[in-house]
Amino acid sequence: MSPPISLWMDRLDPPLRPRPALQGCLEVDVAIIGAGYTGLWTAYYLKCQAPELRIAVVEAEYAGFGASGRNGGWLMGGLLGDERLLAGLPAEQRRAAFDLLHGIPDEVASVLLREDIACDYRKGGVLYCAARYPEQERRLRAWLDSLHGQGLSEADYRWLPPDELGQQLRINNPLGAIHSPHCATIQPARLVRGLAQTVERLGVQLFEQSRVSHWQPGLLRTAQGELRADWVVPAVEGYAAELPLLRRYQLPVQSLLLATEPLSSSQWDAIGLERGQAFSEFSRQVTYGQRSADDRLVFGARGGYRFAGKLRQDFNLNAEEIGLRRYLFGELFPQLRNTRISHGWGGNLGMARRFQPHMLLDRANRIALAGGYGGEGVGASNLGGRTLAELILGRSSQLTAQPWVLGERPLSALKAWEPEPCRWLGYNAIVRSFVHEDRILANPHSPAWRRALAGKLADFMEGLMR
Ligand SMILES: Cc1cc2nc3c(=O)[nH]c(=O)nc-3n(C[C@H](O)[C@H](O)[C@H](O)COP(=O)(O)OP(=O)(O)OC[C@H]3O[C@@H](n4cnc5c(N)ncnc54)[C@H](O)[C@@H]3O)c2cc1C
Repeated sequence: MSPPISLWMDRLDPPLRPRPALQGCLEVDVAIIGAGYTGLWTAYYLKCQAPELRIAVVEAEYAGFGASGRNGGWLMGGLLGDERLLAGLPAEQRRAAFDLLHGIPDEVASVLLREDIACDYRKGGVLYCAARYPEQERRLRAWLDSLHGQGLSEADYRWLPPDELGQQLRINNPLGAIHSPHCATIQPARLVRGLAQTVERLGVQLFEQSRVSHWQPGLLRTAQGELRADWVVPAVEGYAAELPLLRRYQLPVQSLLLATEPLSSSQWDAIGLERGQAFSEFSRQVTYGQRSADDRLVFGARGGYRFAGKLRQDFNLNAEEIGLRRYLFGELFPQLRNTRISHGWGGNLGMARRFQPHMLLDRANRIALAGGYGGEGVGASNLGGRTLAELILGRSSQLTAQPWVLGERPLSALKAWEPEPCRWLGYNAIVRSFVHEDRILANPHSPAWRRALAGKLADFMEGLMR
């Protein structure tokens, strides 16, 4: 077998052995393409509520091969763009929707307990830190005001001045942080592999090494088999770029991570994160991390997009990719600048054109799908699976009455990405403005006018994403 695709897959115990492929013809009620969190959570909640359903999951490689086995392990009680999605709702309904989102980590924890899935779940909350330049503090405080303006409380999001932040995380040059309790950290591969075992135990058929080469309503084909199904659930997220009918709706973005070798207890005493807190540094491009259960610093930053939505297959990171991430975490933890990196990897994630997730049921074609989570799909996919189960079973509930649920609409209700070269130009223009801003702001000698100009340009470009 090829080398492990992530630290997490490398640490599986026992090591991974792919299940057999789909052979011949099979008829089921629900056919799911892709054994990542979305596909498996959908299978799980369907089977729990309707055990009589015949469900098959067909996976190109093995469960967890995609982003679900590679991510940074932040299990967030929220969705990409949730504030924007909920802003128009009446206050009471908005609060209830936020409570639903905040409840995601607890919902996952209850399944882990019930199904005996061990994945190093720790609900230590999250720290959004200002450290590298003062503009981060200003932006964080503005974000906090906007969260409170939406009716969220100090119990949800609270400002920590540097001394309070220091009780949880000791970073270089701390300026303050927002703390939220609505986040857990996990070992991603253990979660996805545990879910795969769980759904199999419940009677779901799981075929690995079975790439779907053709699909249409009611039917999907692999090299050696065929599935006929009442419902089809394509759950391929970043890989939609390679699947007919879906590629216009998802932009594959590459995200990269590093892990250090396990750090000593004295090194961790100097850093903190005793309770498995997730942390991020509040620059415009994602920069985030966690302390793994085996005491590594796992750190991810920034992404990439390839012309025409080409997926990246080889995630052996080059010296420049490692160097940039090393530089960024070295800014926060100078004492770790020379620490050995044991793993570097990455994956493809899916970004929807509206920069927010969607859940949809196309009843005429009997297709159900959830995705577009951006880099925030670990928790969102649990919500997606729960919601798709309700939609497929024809139930209405609080889950199905949310603004990210497009309800009973055709696939074309999703907003399509612009054709190339617009996407590539747009993506790169936005990212370059962010990188430029970060470089100017990280330099303490940059004059005020340059700082302001770089910020305004990045604000403008960020606005184009809305
Ligand atoms: C490096 C990285 C870090 C991330 N960090 C975080 C984080 O810390 N927190 C967070 O919330 N989110 C994070 N994300 C995003 C999160 O991991 C994803 O949103 C989530 O895992 C998506 O799950 P999924 O099941 O929808 O897709 P995936 O896990 O990508 O699963 C899709 C599956 O479909 C399979 N497939 C594709 N094509 C076919 C085909 N033709 N036939 C059959 N099978 C097919 C793939 O092999 C894959 O296994 C990160 C993503 C990446 C890449």
